Order: sequence, then structure tokens, then C-alpha cells
Amino acid sequence: MNLEIKLKEIFGYDYFRNGQKQIIEQVLAGQATLGILPTGAGKSICYQLPAVIQSGLTLVISPLISLMKDQVDQLNIAGIPATFINSTLEEGESYQRMRQVENGEIKLLFVAPERFSLDYFNNFLQKLPIDLVAIDEAHCISQWGHDFRPSYVDFAAHLKDLPTRPTVLALTATATPKVADDIQSLLSISPSHTIKTGFLRENLRFEVVKGMDKRTFLKNYLKNQESESAGIIYASTRKEVEEICEWLNHNHFKAVRYHAGLSERERQMNQELFLFDEVPIMVATNAFGMGINKPNVRFVIHYAIPATIESYYQEAGRAGRDGLESDAILLFSPNDLRIRNFLIEQGEGDEGHKELEYEKLRQMQAYTSAETCLQRYILQYFGDEGEDCKKCSNCLDERELLDITVDAQKVLSCVVRMGERFGKTAVAQVLIGSKNKNIAKWNFEGLSTFGIMKNYSQKTVGELIDFLSAEGYLNVTTGKFPLLLLSAQGLKVLKGQGKVSRRASLIIE
Ligand code: ADP
Repeated sequence: MNLEIKLKEIFGYDYFRNGQKQIIEQVLAGQATLGILPTGAGKSICYQLPAVIQSGLTLVISPLISLMKDQVDQLNIAGIPATFINSTLEEGESYQRMRQVENGEIKLLFVAPERFSLDYFNNFLQKLPIDLVAIDEAHCISQWGHDFRPSYVDFAAHLKDLPTRPTVLALTATATPKVADDIQSLLSISPSHTIKTGFLRENLRFEVVKGMDKRTFLKNYLKNQESESAGIIYASTRKEVEEICEWLNHNHFKAVRYHAGLSERERQMNQELFLFDEVPIMVATNAFGMGINKPNVRFVIHYAIPATIESYYQEAGRAGRDGLESDAILLFSPNDLRIRNFLIEQGEGDEGHKELEYEKLRQMQAYTSAETCLQRYILQYFGDEGEDCKKCSNCLDERELLDITVDAQKVLSCVVRMGERFGKTAVAQVLIGSKNKNIAKWNFEGLSTFGIMKNYSQKTVGELIDFLSAEGYLNVTTGKFPLLLLSAQGLKVLKGQGKVSRRASLIIE
């Protein structure tokens, strides 16, 4: 069978994109497959094409109930019989759809994983000629993912009961090596059947803006954009969305807003104004963007630090889908971390889950402290190697590189002398010789490193520690109160076998 011809016939596309054909071939050969492809790469085709080619039914598992209708509508427009069954439907409507599926009138059935907890639904599945189960957002199955959903694990157990032994295709855009391991073992996918295309987005220019008034930055940045340029500004709270949107309009930049607190009607309207290029700027919380495919977004600006690198890359990745040069800018202020910590504290989930969220936030924070190439930093997070992009704000940083080996040694040696049992605050306080009660309690005054950086403020030393962590000289444990440990790379520096350089010089106060 010539797959290219099928692709053209069914979807009108001339050629496969990176990874698609290999995934489809494996699926058609009955091999359980994991596909890790960046957002916008075209994951849907990987199950839609086999679904049409194969004689039976393809079951699509997706956590995004709100998107199912759109996905199904689009397939129906393309002449492919698809339907969904979820909690938004009246009971009668669900039963009617089940009859259609039983009668073989449907090729793709979309459901949420929770549906597998219903006995009648499992009985229904037993009778169906399912030949493929496609699992969208497969990272939700892993505790290490940024969006763990226990219903995915329960669903995976049910999968084994299906009498037709369907082929399994797991798809995700964001899988760190740990998450990929989890998906493979929970869904019995051989690592050799994992297909991963690069996460590199060559047309994105990453930038971290620190120590600058955010509104001043925005104003200057937007003034220098062509007036038609479309962009998204992500804020972390609804209130912040309201404030920024109002402020932009007040300053004659046309913007609309989007967050979960608005009426369905307003959200829909604002989304369309943005999608159809009526209003160039969208100010939104992370509720905006899933399933949105606007190719000509020229910039994505994060007004505050996102919760994880996964969500950052996903959101930033909405820029430049058309392949043209686009910006992904993060405005960082250490104060924003307080809001993030608060959100974690208030969030649902047990202590273990919160620990993981703190760890993800720490890695996100490390992105803002790193001085290596930003694109590369992200790629390494996802387990990819890459070259320096030569255009991000770190690659273009022209400030002089200073040798800070001696200062780094002071910090590293202090960490060791404190027994690697303390976090950033305590280490910084010892280094500046703080009179803080907690420090006195531990009798750190006797340490040779006590007060050896007394010319610096605690904030400056804290930033140096962040830098040393981001660059891998220190390891940081997970959890709410992360401890600093010496890494192998840090040990070399301590022994005088390696040098450390940094752009920003320490300010002597
Ligand atoms: P993902 O789920 O990976 O984010 P989608 O499956 O939604 O991406 O696809 C993104 C866009 O790319 C869609 O508009 C889709 O129609 C288009 N697309 C997918 N595969 C191809 C292809 N081979 N050629 C051209 N366009 C494609």
C-alpha cells in the first residue's frame, strides 16, 4: 500500500511530516508504538490515517473533553465518520451514538479515560472490533508528567481486557526521558518502537528578561513590532490578565482577554477576534491555547514564570507555527515565584505530588538563571542534545565573561562544610555571616566559610547559588525545602580542576 497516496486521497497533504510515516507503518504492522512529537507536528494523522485504512474501529483516548467536539467535527467535514461519547452528552444521545458504533457506522470513537471506570461501557467495548487504541496526551499516565491523571493508569489496566488485542499508539508532545519510561512500561511499548522527532524549533528566539520593569519592556517591545503582528501574552492569574489587557488598550495596543472566569460567549468571541486577525494581541491565562492552531503568531510573552518547562515550551511553541522567525519571551521577577509557590500549596494532590510540582518549578526557575543557550537548556530537559542556537538572549549576551571560580569555590565549600543538609537560604546566610537566630542555633559561626562573603547581600549570594545550580555545579534535592548538594562538576571546581565563569559580576555592596 502506498501511504503517500492514501495521505493525499484522504487528507489532501502531499507528504508526511517528520515521524508520521514511521509511526503509521509501525501501527499498521501491529506494533505498540510511542510517538513523541512536538506540538503542531501533526500527531492526529498518526491515528487518523490507520483508522481509515483499517477495517475495524479506532478508539481515541483524550483527556480534553472540550476539544473532542471540534476534532470530531473536523473529521466529519473531511468525510471520515467519527463521534465522541462523554459526560457533556444526554444519556439518550450517548446510547444512540453507541448503537451507531455497534452498527459499524463509525471509524473513530473519542472518549475520556474516566469512561473506563463504567461497567456498562467496558461491556460495550467487549463487543467491538477495535483494532487501534490511540492515546492522546499520553504523558498524563506518568507521575513524572506535568499533568498526571490517575484515570490514565486505571484505563491502562482495562486495555488488557479488550478481546481484540488492539494495537496501542501513545502520543505526546512533552515527554522527559523519565516520562517516556513510564509510558513504555505502563502500556507495554518496547523502547525500540518509540519514535521521537526533535524538539528543536529553529525559528523561535528565546529571551529571558530580568531586572526590568515589565510594562516598560512590553511597551517598547510592542512599539517595535509591526502593528499587524499577532502575539499572545500569558499571565498567571485572571486578575493579571484583566489588568494587562486594560492597560494595553489604554495605551492604544489592541488586545482582547481570555480566562476561565469569562462567559463562554466572551471567550468564544475574543478567541475568534484573535484567530481571524481582527485583534492582534491576546492576553490570557493558560486556559487559552489548547487545540488552537493559529500559524502566524509572532510572539509569545510570559508575563510571569510558568509552573513547568513542559507548559512553558508548549505555550511558547504556539509562536511561529508557520515556520517564520518568532519570539518566545519570559519576563522574570523573583516575586512571581511566591505566587507559584502559593498555587502549589493551595493545589489539590498529596504531598508527593506537591514535591514534584516544587521540583518542576525549580527547574523552570533554573531556566531563568542559566547562562547557557536557552533553546539548548530546554532540549536537554527533554533529553535531546542540541547546538547553541546563536540567537537567544543568552547566546547574544555580550557582557564580558568574568572568572568567578574563587567565589564559586566559597559557595561550594560552604555547602560541603554544612554537611549538604541545608538549602539556599541557610547557605547564603552562613556565607554572608548572618546573625539570624536559626544560623546561631546550628553553631555555624565556627565554620571557616562563615562570613567569607560578607561584602555581598544575601540576595546576591542567593542568585549566585541559583546560577551554580542552573549550570550544574550544585545538585538540588526535590521538595518544598530543597537541599543543596555538591555535584561531580562542582567537586572538580572545588579541587581546582575546573573554572567557572559568569556574565554578571557580583555586585560588591
Ligand atoms: P499536534 O496534535 O501534533 O499538535 P495536529 O495533529 O493538530 O498537531 O496537526 C497540526 C496541523 O498540521 C493540523 O492543521 C494538521 O492538519 C496539519 N498537518 C498534519 N500533518 C500534516 C502533513 N503531513 N502535511 C501538512 N499538514 C499537516
